Amino acid sequence: MHQRKISILGATGSIGTSTLDLVERNPQEFRVEALTAQRDVKGLAAAARRTGAAFAAIGDEALYGKLRDALAGTSTQVGAGQGAIMEAAGRPADWTMAAIVGIAGLKPVMAALETGGVVAFANKESLVSAGDLMTDAARRYAATILPVDSEHNAIFQCFDAAAPERIRKVTLTASGGPFRDWSLEAMRSVTPAQAVKHPNWSMGAKISVDSATLMNKGLELIEAFHLFPLRADQFDAIVHPQSVVHALVEYIDGSVIAQLGTPDMRTPIAHCLAWPARMPTPCKPLDLAALSRLEFQAPDLERFPALALAHEALAAGGARPAVLNAANEVAVAAFLEGRIGFLDIAATVRKALDRCDPARPACLDDVFAIDAEARATAKAVIELETV
Ligand code: NAD
Ligand code: MG
Repeated sequence: MHQRKISILGATGSIGTSTLDLVERNPQEFRVEALTAQRDVKGLAAAARRTGAAFAAIGDEALYGKLRDALAGTSTQVGAGQGAIMEAAGRPADWTMAAIVGIAGLKPVMAALETGGVVAFANKESLVSAGDLMTDAARRYAATILPVDSEHNAIFQCFDAAAPERIRKVTLTASGGPFRDWSLEAMRSVTPAQAVKHPNWSMGAKISVDSATLMNKGLELIEAFHLFPLRADQFDAIVHPQSVVHALVEYIDGSVIAQLGTPDMRTPIAHCLAWPARMPTPCKPLDLAALSRLEFQAPDLERFPALALAHEALAAGGARPAVLNAANEVAVAAFLEGRIGFLDIAATVRKALDRCDPARPACLDDVFAIDAEARATAKAVIELETV
């Protein structure tokens, strides 16, 4: 049987380890080409040993010796630094998981697309900042983009791509995060530990904070716009605390098709790994009788202004989504370091959007210039004004 050659960028994170879990349950199906991580030498070396990966790359150059020692006596080649991550991404593979967090994923994802294989996109920040460039590259290199994000994977499963004119709208669900029912006053003193504790999903720190501000849903609306051929105003979000219905596609005849499943990222990852076939997963089957009810409510844009900012950035287009993403990454990092409050995250992004308005990016260098300007602006807002 033909083994598919796969690579995992961001192999030590939440999505990376869930991907490895599925791959390791099916060793006859997959051969691991490359694995990457930024600093977690132990996790990376252990995964490379277990899977017999051909290449392991650690982003932090200072950790080269540690990784080399940890993989001594194996056939895994070792590399360190940004160049090694790019080499890992650019090695020919049938299937690549793009699960680096943040704008750091942008260049590696582009390198993976240029190999012309299947690229499973978890790294939403690259689609938000450079969506047109990503989809153009996929076309140019005949690469296939598959959506890993649970909502987008759900849309992908319900969306009749052959006749998008028959679709009226697409709705992404949001859990509402840990502060769904909190007052604005109570949200003022939220701590990083409270914000990273998501009620339904276990995820990395950055996306957990994004889920708590609802910026995650905003980034996902922009992500959806690039993945599916509809107008920006045809995408919307609804709060659904149980995280069982992941997205809904409404057709012009009034039919609404949704994808449901227990909140476990291994289901959408498995969908991408097996696509266009299906594979079994160890995920708990959905038990609707035990759940007994599913709730839905409109998002409150006053308590969750980040979602409104993302709507605005999506409608405006151009460089706005890249500014939104960069300012948000800076603000979330400052919040996690205890330098700004929870509500200051959206306030910082709003100010960055007000203060920088660069031209639409035409190439990746433009995106990095926009990203750098927005980061500098957000940092100045945080440092000079304490928002
Ligand atoms: P995580 O923080 O758990 O893992 C991030 C991975 O990226 C790690 O392997 C880390 O070593 C690597 N990394 C971090 N900084 C890097 C850098 N500067 N250069 C190279 N590699 C770097 O994050 P996660 O929760 O797994 O999320 C990964 C991506 O998937 C994010 O874009 C997130 O928005 C998206 N996503 C995650 C989930 C989820 O359930 N966790 C769901 C949907 C989408
Ligand atoms: Mg999601």
